[in-house]
Amino acid sequence: MTSYNFSAGPGVLPSSVIQQIRKDLEQEENSHYSILEISHRSAKFEQIIAHAEKRLRELMAIPADYAVLFIQGGGSLQFEMLPLNLANQKKKIAVLDSGNFANKAAKAAEAVGKSVEIVGSSKADKYRFLPELPGDFQAEQYDYLHITTNNTIEGSTYHQDNLPQTTGHLVADMSSNILAEPYDVTKFSAIFAGAQKNLGPAGVTVAIIKKDWLAEQKITGVGPMMRYQSYIDKDSMYNTPPVFSIYALSLVLDWVSDQGGVAQMYQNNQKKAEKLYQYLDESDFYQVPVQGADRSLTNVVFTTGDADLDRKISQQADQEGIHNLAGHRSVGGFRASLYNAQPMAAVDTLIAFLERAKQEN
Ligand SMILES: *Cc1c(COP(=O)(O)O)cnc(C)c1O
Repeated sequence: MTSYNFSAGPGVLPSSVIQQIRKDLEQEENSHYSILEISHRSAKFEQIIAHAEKRLRELMAIPADYAVLFIQGGGSLQFEMLPLNLANQKKKIAVLDSGNFANKAAKAAEAVGKSVEIVGSSKADKYRFLPELPGDFQAEQYDYLHITTNNTIEGSTYHQDNLPQTTGHLVADMSSNILAEPYDVTKFSAIFAGAQKNLGPAGVTVAIIKKDWLAEQKITGVGPMMRYQSYIDKDSMYNTPPVFSIYALSLVLDWVSDQGGVAQMYQNNQKKAEKLYQYLDESDFYQVPVQGADRSLTNVVFTTGDADLDRKISQQADQEGIHNLAGHRSVGGFRASLYNAQPMAAVDTLIAFLERAKQEN
């Protein structure tokens, strides 16, 4: 039975990448020189990490005045590193509270001693739409504005043409839609993304930081592991980096490039998401809480409106090879994650299943 994985993260990887990893490991099994066993100072790994950086720069058109860093600790560590490194003038950041992860970022910034202002929130409406930046937003009062481009749990996205317009620094958590759709990097002063949603396995996080901005900062009381400058100075090898995760990431980046880059991913993702949303909208059984232009391409969130029935259908899906369809434990319902590596066949199989489940229930 073909099975499909709709997990929100760690998520599905391209089959060819899994095959390549297996081949590389088998070939090097007896030499004890596989990627799992080599030094991060080896020429082989140095070539891999340099290649990963080059590929990401190409795919996102990242200008030379931005650093591209590979860091451990996930998106959650970035919630702390960002304010520690980049909120040192006003010591105050603005957050658009578009979902759970924006909320966590706000709490983390407060925990490291910065003040946080929620300048827009759709929490009271269960995050069914994106909060907008108020017209009288005073960018100069804050070090930066933090947004979450894709709200993984709620299924909403600030797409490129819908980004909040600020005259100040804009910082984006792109964990769950980096490389899924195009963004103009120059609109942001910092971007970060944990790899495990759309870039590779867990263990590495990409941070893209505008170097001039970092250079202006007077950072005190922050150790070297939490400073972006340490990673810049040592080419992301201030300490031992996650060697395997970076190797797998480089294979995924090559795959995206071979497929035709972000433009092609975007086209594929639009087709997949449109097909699924169209089915859900036309059914009189499933509802999508997020409407219109705010809808995510990578995380499609829906429900029957009956929590017990949702749970039952998710369990049934699992038995039929449609895995990890249940929504996040905080919201319930369903969530179909359609990351870059998710094939159209997965969407077709899912729709056929949902239609059967509708008939049977
Ligand atoms: C998953 C996720 C995070 C948290 O990432 P960790 O790597 O688990 O710390 C942060 N932001 C977004 C948008 C996410 O999807």
